Amino acid sequence: MAHACVLVHRSLFQRERSNIPAHGGRLAERESPCAIKERSFMSTLPACPKCSSQYTYEDGSLYVCPECAHEWNPQSTVAADDDDVKVYRDSAGNTLQDGDTVIVIKDLKLKGSNNVVKMGTKVKNIRLVDSDHDIDCKIDGIGPMSLKSEFVKKA
Ligand SMILES: [Zn+2]
Repeated sequence: MAHACVLVHRSLFQRERSNIPAHGGRLAERESPCAIKERSFMSTLPACPKCSSQYTYEDGSLYVCPECAHEWNPQSTVAADDDDVKVYRDSAGNTLQDGDTVIVIKDLKLKGSNNVVKMGTKVKNIRLVDSDHDIDCKIDGIGPMSLKSEFVKKA
């Protein structure tokens, strides 16, 4: 009984719609501005800061780049630009600060010598500098050194 009832209601509804063309016309009008709005909204998203891809999309509060899989928070990007402070990160993505202790994650050959900084070496009291070797430090038994943050992990 309930099943038959649903069928009757639906066919009644369809007949009503087809009898009043103005109703259908209004529906179509309501759909089109919505589609246009969505397209222009997409193009206002910023390009990927990593690879400059234009195909950025939103995932919750994050922006996501489909080409290099970079995800970022639009709010934190703006804040970083305002402060103009470089963020130093170790190989695991932890933020590094002056005075931190880090551990070398792979054997690093020193240029122009036979010395090797062994994997697992603890480096105390680092100093962050704005260069491609962004960690200034002193390693016991070797002396002053410059390391890349990508080869260390925060201790
Ligand atoms: Zn990208």
